[in-house]
Amino acid sequence: MQCHYCDDPADISVERGGVKVGLCGSHFRRRMDELKNDGWLDDLKDDLQTDRLDR
Ligand SMILES: [Zn+2]
Repeated sequence: MQCHYCDDPADISVERGGVKVGLCGSHFRRRMDELKNDGWLDDLKDDLQTDRLDR
């Protein structure tokens, strides 16, 4: 899987509402900072599956 935001291979896949999005390490951290502000992170703990992908 490829990162949703750049051409790097995804380190992490995030699934939400049936949509799977791949994120590289740096984009994942960047999104996390934004999501904390949105309150999305609270949802995330409950219903988000975060899978670590092997390269
Ligand atoms: Zn990326």
